[in-house]
Amino acid sequence: MAQAKLTIDLAALRANWRALAAKSHSETGAVVKADGYGLGANQVALALADEGARRFFVASCEEGASLRDALGSGPEINVFSGHMDGDTALIRDAQLTPMINSIDQMLRQVEALPGAPFGVQLDSGMNRLGMEPAEWGALRDIALAQNPTLIMSHLACADEPDHPMNAQQLQAFHEMTDGIDAPRSLSATGGILLGADYHFDVTRPGVGLYGGLPFEDAKPVVTLDIPVIQIREVAPGESVGYGNNFIAQSPTRVATIAAGYADGVIRAMGPQAQLWSEDTRCKVLGRISMDMIAVDVSALNGDPASLTLLGHMQSVDVVADWAGTIGYEILTSLGHRYDRTYLT
Ligand SMILES: *Cc1c(COP(=O)(O)O)cnc(C)c1O
Repeated sequence: MAQAKLTIDLAALRANWRALAAKSHSETGAVVKADGYGLGANQVALALADEGARRFFVASCEEGASLRDALGSGPEINVFSGHMDGDTALIRDAQLTPMINSIDQMLRQVEALPGAPFGVQLDSGMNRLGMEPAEWGALRDIALAQNPTLIMSHLACADEPDHPMNAQQLQAFHEMTDGIDAPRSLSATGGILLGADYHFDVTRPGVGLYGGLPFEDAKPVVTLDIPVIQIREVAPGESVGYGNNFIAQSPTRVATIAAGYADGVIRAMGPQAQLWSEDTRCKVLGRISMDMIAVDVSALNGDPASLTLLGHMQSVDVVADWAGTIGYEILTSLGHRYDRTYLT
């Protein structure tokens, strides 16, 4: 079967959530946007709900409605994009909690769904999403009178602990929210690691749950094993793959494996990429194709049935580096052709 195997270790995911939860005294939520960072929002959220998570975060109301079907009623599902035009029925029917980002969204919320729960997203300097201090100043009393479930903001540089932006945003968030009764939330994975000053009442880890940096102690959650379709001997002077990009200098055993850039093995990783056969490193040769990659298996004794791209030997962040990207993008690019297995 030429189908690569993606194994998602839900026990490791739960352990990562517990480890991040143990770092603060506040409530620990879970960010499951983009289909749970590519790993399956429903499976991930059900596992974390069982572990004790009660507040989930998604990017859009469509994601939220689909998550509600999986989780049933009970856990809070917060939507970062807030209440957009056309969202009202989804918010009402799926009992979503929009994070209101502007005066327009606030008006839409109170007119369409008076008395329904909502949170507020403030911009503390990132200039991406949320109300700016002046806008918040104008709306604050009206919004607070309706008992928002959460007042949140997001840090731009939390993966760099020494970045002065962290303290600036912390101060801006204090200035906008001190004295408010509603629960407050500032930190994603990076912010949790910055320490207690950043925790407030609710934290919102995402990538750390899934085994990515900046949570260095994360347990790996994903294993990707790619089957070998064919093995051949390549003589010195012969080339491998598109553009003749690799030319053998010595006799080389080349395995063709069944995944490529259409499966999220980013083409730009190119010849820096390597896979593993147990504890032996095998280099990628030449260009990554859409559905296939050539790998040097000369160092192996037998013929491997498959090679491992992600797992204990190498994390999503190591693989991301080869393509000049981040672990988040590797996770969310994982393709739809994999045979997915969930370990519980
Ligand atoms: C994606 C996101 C998170 C989670 O961030 P991680 O770095 O993955 O932990 C939290 N809050 C907001 C607003 C986000 O967009």
